[in-house]
Amino acid sequence: MITAEKKTEKKTNSAWEVALEQLDIVAKKINLDPNIHEILRNCKRELTVRFPVKMDDESIKVFTGYRVQHNMARGPAKGGIRYHPDASLDEVKALSMWMTWKCAVVGIPYGGAKGGVICNPKEMSKGELERLTRRYASELMIIIGPEKDIPAPDVYTNPQVMAWIMDTFSMNKGYSVPGVVTGKPLSIGGSEGRNEATARGCVYVISEAAKNTGLNLKGATVVVQGYGNAGSIAALLLKKEGCKIIGISDSKGGIYNPDGLDPDKVLRHKEETGSVVGFAGAKILTNEEILEIPCDILVPAALENQITKKNADKIKAKIVAEAANGPTTPEADAIMYKNGVLVLPDILANAGGVTVSYFEWVQDLQANFWNEAEVNAKLKEIMTKAFKNVWDIAQKHKENMRTAAYMLAVNRVAEAINIRGIYP
Ligand code: NAD
Repeated sequence: MITAEKKTEKKTNSAWEVALEQLDIVAKKINLDPNIHEILRNCKRELTVRFPVKMDDESIKVFTGYRVQHNMARGPAKGGIRYHPDASLDEVKALSMWMTWKCAVVGIPYGGAKGGVICNPKEMSKGELERLTRRYASELMIIIGPEKDIPAPDVYTNPQVMAWIMDTFSMNKGYSVPGVVTGKPLSIGGSEGRNEATARGCVYVISEAAKNTGLNLKGATVVVQGYGNAGSIAALLLKKEGCKIIGISDSKGGIYNPDGLDPDKVLRHKEETGSVVGFAGAKILTNEEILEIPCDILVPAALENQITKKNADKIKAKIVAEAANGPTTPEADAIMYKNGVLVLPDILANAGGVTVSYFEWVQDLQANFWNEAEVNAKLKEIMTKAFKNVWDIAQKHKENMRTAAYMLAVNRVAEAINIRGIYP
């Protein structure tokens, strides 16, 4: 069965097939029990919902949404919700599997899940988005909850969307349930530091990698692909570390200035005009060209499958820090490893988001809130330890950082499945 699926992988490179291939590669390396391997190649629950939403012009549109729980051996499921025209069950499955590994890499007590709705939020009014979100949340009521599955923001969803989900869930229960989602606004049980957490965690991991490879962050050149929550805050934080941001892109294209871009001003330009493109004094590049700029640190912070066998040879960064989920295909991984590019894999590099989501959930359950310094200190401790664990495995087994992170994660999940046993 594995062989048959592997044949199609090469042709399609879909996110789910990439996720399966990454698991298969590691299963061999760690001599994973074939029974556990088979369990992990499947998602525990896949919910597809189709639901009507009243649009502003009084028409009714039927939307499709998903929630997939990959594995819950280590705890309740955790993972974001994505609103995107290209969302698909295949993509949500891959993202849910990556969440399982991510939670295991950083050692937080969750399994993996992910959700998505096929829609284009850029073309919807706030009212339409609210009605879509509330109806989708109602459809998910049967599988989400603070002790079952806790969603969070992802591409094109934000704290407001989380607030609507929390409110919808709470209205149906008859009491407030802040722990049902994370990434909420502070006023309803959100955590200090959550908004910056993914980027901050990524920067902690980049700093550790820089220390271990002798790269001085002061003056290091940085390119960021995708300028949303993860990408824009990573650029701001890296600038604070002394880095020079020379390239930035979003869905409309990229900008480049070898003398450095001010990430704050670029963000303001994007907020005012809808894109980074057109920022004064910068050369316009395509998204493909942005990735190929020679630099010290490349931060893919957009979508999957951005670095493939087609462009991997052209990546001239010393460090690729995957703020995005799944930006690199397995073939591209091998090419970059051969070329000496240090890839900090998504399940490590962007795990700061889920880590502070975990802190938020803990604070909600205890109704006891921490200040930002406490959150950041705890985040730093977890990210630094996870980096060291993965780095040590990579050195010991002479593997790249992704394989090392997977070895750590898959072993932890397998251990949980083994110790729990197979029910009944
Ligand atoms: P976001 O919606 O805030 O931003 C996404 C950005 O990507 C936007 O600037 C958009 O213009 C840009 N983009 C979209 N398509 C693009 C393309 N083809 N080329 C270049 N840019 C493109 O989303 P986000 O929350 O920042 O998520 C970005 C990535 O980080 C995703 O892969 C997500 O899964 C991952 N991630 C996010 C979090 C989090 O806490 N937000 C946590 C872990 C991982």
